[in-house]
Amino acid sequence: GQPLVYDMSYDQHMTRREMENTISQLMETEGWNRRSVDPFHLHFCNLQPDSAYHRELLKRYGQETWDRLPITATSQRHVDMFPREDLVYLTADSPNVLHTFDHSKVYVIGAMVDRSIQSGVSLANAKRLKLSTARLPLDEYLHWEIGAKNLTLDQMIRILMTTKETGSWEKALDFVPKRKHDGFHQQKSKDSSQRPETSTGAF
Ligand code: SAM
Repeated sequence: GQPLVYDMSYDQHMTRREMENTISQLMETEGWNRRSVDPFHLHFCNLQPDSAYHRELLKRYGQETWDRLPITATSQRHVDMFPREDLVYLTADSPNVLHTFDHSKVYVIGAMVDRSIQSGVSLANAKRLKLSTARLPLDEYLHWEIGAKNLTLDQMIRILMTTKETGSWEKALDFVPKRKHDGFHQQKSKDSSQRPETSTGAF
């Protein structure tokens, strides 16, 4: 399957509670992915052995289940595992829009839950590593109400799975909570042929 990376390097940015929420969302993510027709190969990168994160994962899954999970968990950095030009860091704060899902890219998701939104954390991280970045086309498809465009990890996997399988953002963005927006723009699906190419430019 296509690799999908979770960047586990954000322990320092989270409270204990947020870290536990992140793990719940990652477990849900793994469940959705496993049941999909064409699962991603999930990579948990930057996972330090014996970190609070690692200990919590082991505790929640139990050692046996953890060992058998179809996940690559490693302390290695994503930038040392994949060619830099294949990596695209997904972040709500990116200036670039993900117009089309690219089956040859390795998308990176920040394994982070922040109750009080610390904006730009994953963007700064991606910039520092000189990686391309992209945000989901939320404004392009949805009438957005005020409020943060940061989605949860379980929403992210369902959106990515759906766009990967169907190529349809309308279907994929159905997994954005309805309370966050006021419906789809009318024109977009008809205009899709005129949309510009993916712009996931590097910094
Ligand atoms: N403030 C955090 C940050 O700096 O990324 C927000 C974390 S968000 C709850 C968890 C992860 O989901 C993000 O790091 C990003 O990879 C992904 N994500 C959430 N919303 C996104 C969006 N609208 N576009 C692209 N990626 C998004």
